[in-house]
Amino acid sequence: MRGHRKRSSFVTKAYVAAREQFALFREPASAEQPPLVYLDSAASCQVPDTVLQAYLTYYQQGHANAHRGSYPLARHATAQLEGARQELAAWIGASPEHLAFTAGATHSLNLLAQGLQLDWQAGDEIVLSRAEHHSNFLPWQRLVQQHRLQLRWLDLDPRTGALEENWRAAITERCKLVAVTLASNVTGQCLPVAAIAEQARKQGAVTVVDAAQAVGSVSLDVRQLGCDALTFSAHKMYGVTGCGVLYLASALQEKLEPWLLGGGMVTEVTEAQSQWMSGVQQFEAGTPNTAAIIACAAAARWLTAERAAGLSDYLLDLTKQLRRQLQQRQWLQLLPPQPSDEGLPLLSFFSADVHAFDLASYLAEQNIAVRAGSHCAQPLMNFWQQSAVVRVSLAAYNTAADCERLCAALDEAYQLFT
Ligand code: PLP
Repeated sequence: MRGHRKRSSFVTKAYVAAREQFALFREPASAEQPPLVYLDSAASCQVPDTVLQAYLTYYQQGHANAHRGSYPLARHATAQLEGARQELAAWIGASPEHLAFTAGATHSLNLLAQGLQLDWQAGDEIVLSRAEHHSNFLPWQRLVQQHRLQLRWLDLDPRTGALEENWRAAITERCKLVAVTLASNVTGQCLPVAAIAEQARKQGAVTVVDAAQAVGSVSLDVRQLGCDALTFSAHKMYGVTGCGVLYLASALQEKLEPWLLGGGMVTEVTEAQSQWMSGVQQFEAGTPNTAAIIACAAAARWLTAERAAGLSDYLLDLTKQLRRQLQQRQWLQLLPPQPSDEGLPLLSFFSADVHAFDLASYLAEQNIAVRAGSHCAQPLMNFWQQSAVVRVSLAAYNTAADCERLCAALDEAYQLFT
């Protein structure tokens, strides 16, 4: 079955949801519970068959420790890993010598915060947006404390959630580093990262971009963004867990000391002194997660094909219609109060009448998977004076029928709790 033909208040565009490519949605209906509606892809996407197959094939036919052995199987593993590096680099407009593999976006951001040698002086500034996930806040907060730096915020318009118009004023000649998310994992709002990086460059500061949430929905091009570093996690782009991609411009690599030390990143080790490798390998200590990296390249290929088939417009449109439906429910308030129709396919909301955790629990009973809480973004939640919101996020397998089920269940929850 590809998509639903049932009469619906949601009208969807030409792309037909890719449900049948995901084993989870091929599960036969159960007498015990209604079919799963998965609306938590902003946390982790489900993985399509082709990506899982790439993962499995590696373990069945090509598993060895990459960059270690000279026998054919090991050489094959190395070739597969380096092939994935080339493919993923091209996917984001970079060259392979600028792409390091990590365990995920959180790993990458800690690696940067701990390794960047920017001649930190007390009073130097690090600029972040209010929309940052804790992974792009806590590593910088600790650096600020270690070197007695100043943290400055790019503030948001409380109505629209967009950056305040005068955001450029926060990036001055005192700023050494700007770390921003490409899109908020709470509101789905995209930030003007290319313009932010341009302003940072004018002030002699480097720009780090957290593309963890955006990567599943937005085509990335580091040349167009003009950033010095960018990272994302494979599990948010229909890949598997345990793989992060970290783009590092040449000039930044020169200012970056390895954070993790160990096998695979040294040329010479003596009792007295050791010599790091040059290039991105120095940031890849230890055995790489080759299977997850290969699966990440397969996910990028899959995503490119689905985008060509109309995935992005489909999700934009479905999200817009869901937003309209939620806005009709006076008892729900969207975050931000005046959301834009652009941005990622995710929506967050709360109610003065029913707690976010009660809503999520009721939905869970109906086998509708959403996430409630502060979404690892407490500075943003504090800004809106909320402790918990419900987030629903859409992906390639979601249909109009899923949105109908969500809306109906929300109405039932409201009846039950008020
Ligand atoms: N940054 C953003 C915007 C995110 O949404 C997330 C995960 O939710 C992360 C960083 C951290 O990603 P990971 O847990 O894969 O390291």
